[in-house]
Amino acid sequence: MPIIKVKPGEKIRLNKIDADDTGQFHNKQEAIALLAKNIRRMAELQNVLYADGGQSLLIVLQAMDAGGKDGTIRKIMSGVNPQGVRVTSFKKPTEEELSHDFLWRVHKAAPARGMIGIFNRSHYEDVLVVRVHNLVPKKVWQKRYDHINHFEKLLTDNGVTVLKFYLHISKEEQAERLQERLDRPEKNWKFNPGDLKERALWDDYMEAFEVAFEKCSPKNAPWYIVPANKKWYRNLVISEKIVEALEKMNLKYPEPAEGLDNIVIE
Ligand code: ATP
Ligand code: MG
Repeated sequence: MPIIKVKPGEKIRLNKIDADDTGQFHNKQEAIALLAKNIRRMAELQNVLYADGGQSLLIVLQAMDAGGKDGTIRKIMSGVNPQGVRVTSFKKPTEEELSHDFLWRVHKAAPARGMIGIFNRSHYEDVLVVRVHNLVPKKVWQKRYDHINHFEKLLTDNGVTVLKFYLHISKEEQAERLQERLDRPEKNWKFNPGDLKERALWDDYMEAFEVAFEKCSPKNAPWYIVPANKKWYRNLVISEKIVEALEKMNLKYPEPAEGLDNIVIE
């Protein structure tokens, strides 16, 4: 079972989805050339996206801690022109952010025409961590699924292609990755004792993700569930989807100004 595109209203059972899955591929060697090709193609398409200036791409990444959001961004974006990409990492909201509605900080970070925007965590935190810890009353977070759907519709109606990826790792894989952060000096800085508290709430998070997928996968902005225990496979399928989405935009370089042929540069 490779990447899953959630259908509107579809109920997903994450514990039925194999996080180790690698589709038709048997090992990294088989995927390396394809990934490199996708990264090159993405760079070409981004150039046209920028020149065309009429549409934009928003990539939303959500995962449990150590799920690989950072690594995905580093690898997938390794070929693109940094000027055309903006990564926003959503942390715990500041006092100012909390004094506005939950989408206020998110809307400001939406990609301008011609740009690729990447959300490392996103407005979905407001129905994930917030729901799991009841950071606001249920009657408040419950309404947010609709707010999110309306917000994303506003974006897609305005020429933003919205791609949402959930990096699906198993609980065992998370344990290994957190252990690595303890064991390897160059990874120590990434270890956050708070991650263990969230890990203890694994099942609550899975439920919160499942509800979000069910309620927030309209046709214009579906969730994709990516088996992510194997990093090379995760990168390959995500790069594949991004290339596909950019190609679908039917981007074009603007028409050259009249008379370029007659210009002589001395
Ligand atoms: P890293 O891989 O470096 O640990 P990270 O995305 O986990 O990256 P952290 O600074 O460790 O970054 O964590 C950000 C924290 O902010 C997460 O625990 C996340 O749940 C929390 N957060 C993000 N958005 C919200 C929100 N709207 N309300 C409450 N907490 C939030
Ligand atoms: Mg963290």
